[in-house]
Amino acid sequence: MTSEYQIRVLPQVAANEQQLKAWLADEYGFDVRTCNSVRILKRSIDARQRTIFVNLKVRVYINEMPTDDEYVHTEYGDVSQRPQVIVVGAGPGGLFAALRLIELGFRPVVLERGKNVHDRKKDLAAISRTQQVDPESNYCFGEGGAGAYSDGKLYTRSKKRGNIDKILNVFCQHGASTAILADAHPHIGTDRLPKVIEAMRNTIISCGGEVHFQTKMTQLIVHGDCVVGAVAGEREYRGPVILATGHSARDVYRYLAEAKIEIEAKGIAVGVRLEHPSELIDQIQYHSRQGRGKYLPAAEYSFVIQVEGRGVYSFCMCPGGFVIPAATDREQIVVNGMSPANRGTQWSNSGMVVEVRSDDVEGADDVLRMMHFQEQLERMCWQQGNMKQTAPAQRMADFVNKRLSYDLPKSSYAPGLISSPLHFWLPKMIANRLQEGFKVFGKQAHGFLTNEAVLIATETRTSSPVRILRDNMTLQHVRLQGLFPCGEGAGYAGGIVSAGVDGERCAEMAAEYLSAKSC
Ligand SMILES: Cc1cc2nc3c(=O)[nH]c(=O)nc-3n(C[C@H](O)[C@H](O)[C@H](O)COP(=O)(O)OP(=O)(O)OC[C@H]3O[C@@H](n4cnc5c(N)ncnc54)[C@H](O)[C@@H]3O)c2cc1C
Repeated sequence: MTSEYQIRVLPQVAANEQQLKAWLADEYGFDVRTCNSVRILKRSIDARQRTIFVNLKVRVYINEMPTDDEYVHTEYGDVSQRPQVIVVGAGPGGLFAALRLIELGFRPVVLERGKNVHDRKKDLAAISRTQQVDPESNYCFGEGGAGAYSDGKLYTRSKKRGNIDKILNVFCQHGASTAILADAHPHIGTDRLPKVIEAMRNTIISCGGEVHFQTKMTQLIVHGDCVVGAVAGEREYRGPVILATGHSARDVYRYLAEAKIEIEAKGIAVGVRLEHPSELIDQIQYHSRQGRGKYLPAAEYSFVIQVEGRGVYSFCMCPGGFVIPAATDREQIVVNGMSPANRGTQWSNSGMVVEVRSDDVEGADDVLRMMHFQEQLERMCWQQGNMKQTAPAQRMADFVNKRLSYDLPKSSYAPGLISSPLHFWLPKMIANRLQEGFKVFGKQAHGFLTNEAVLIATETRTSSPVRILRDNMTLQHVRLQGLFPCGEGAGYAGGIVSAGVDGERCAEMAAEYLSAKSC
């Protein structure tokens, strides 16, 4: 017999299967010896009160063992002889597009400018050692895209549960922990993601698809109003194109603008990474001097407020994580955050960003103006950082009080920090709003606004500065048939899951297009 229950228990009960069985037996009046297994279907933490509870939805197996799979399995057949679709970019958008194409009986040919996820790791390590960024292999470019060495947080604001569940199940099928199906805020962890991505690549290749690394698309092959392929190096790859090149492929945006392929400037959010000792965040969020204790994960937070008509908010919070150098070119500094599966470092960070609308930046005729705005800021940051990857930084309260920090706290940012008056040189529309936002957040969470925390500049790559215009129904470019702008870089996703969902949708539309092909 199986029964499902919605329960609310203390963290130590939720963390231990024996205790959980005993609690359930007591609560629901069955003999604990008959309970063979308890499967957690949903899990969330309620930290609103002083006593922290864990909300669980569980399935209890009485006198029987679980026989059902923990995740939904997708069948991937042989597509080696089937019509092909070119997928540019092996980030979550491109990878999920490729896998969905196989499901639908089409052959993906994936072109990726960076290296495979394993070799890429060496180039990431070299950034801190040499202070140099490889423009083709970095935290944004390479197999797995910006998602590979990320936190691997898998929640999204999208409400389409079916699409989201599909993405999570495909991750499980490729080696992610099935805990992601239960957790309210699932994450894989930067230490586990590469293996999952490698397994996805192996599925693509074993089914007859192709994955080409260090293969940069430089132009599309356009016949009239039809895209019939893509050029990379000396080679042409023929087929409709799913363009999933991410928010950092500035050469792609420049190419599209020069080729007069319709794009528009898009609003972004810009600011800093804010890093606290994780112990402090745990104490604040769990209302206890003891912090998280033995049974709770590193605490998360989320803040949002409007200041002078623009949103100021925390973004991509990484409890127990690192701040990392996420630039894609030599003369720029960009920071971002990630955390390992156990979220066990001594720091917790998040982006603290201010909304910048496309009409906040001068040059209404320039479709690339938001990208130029990002570029200017990233270069200024590099200059302030002594023309290396050492990032300009300021203690949090000093920033709010407009004081230079005489020293800086220890930080997870491996290339190093340099004290700098961010309040002085960040654009006023960013700095002033951040200062006001921090004052409010400090009131909402006592102890949050502190000089124990450090601001690290600059966080500019929160989303795409450009939207590639596409038709809402067919997902094809508004003018060019056979071109499917996809994922975050095209302006239709804002994270791993939403990029994956968009990748799947683009694959479905490309399959439909090929089945009724007009070009
Ligand atoms: C450090 C970091 C941490 C993050 N943490 C999270 C998180 O925890 N959760 C979350 O949801 N999101 C996170 N994000 C954001 C998330 O990674 C992106 O939203 C997501 O990866 C976007 O997917 P995508 O496939 O659209 O683009 P990308 O992942 O950017 O992939 C684009 C790919 O295209 C390739 N490419 C670019 N140009 C070309 C070309 N001309 N030819 C061939 N290939 C090309 C790139 O090399 C890249 O591999 C994080 C991002 C970073 C940088």
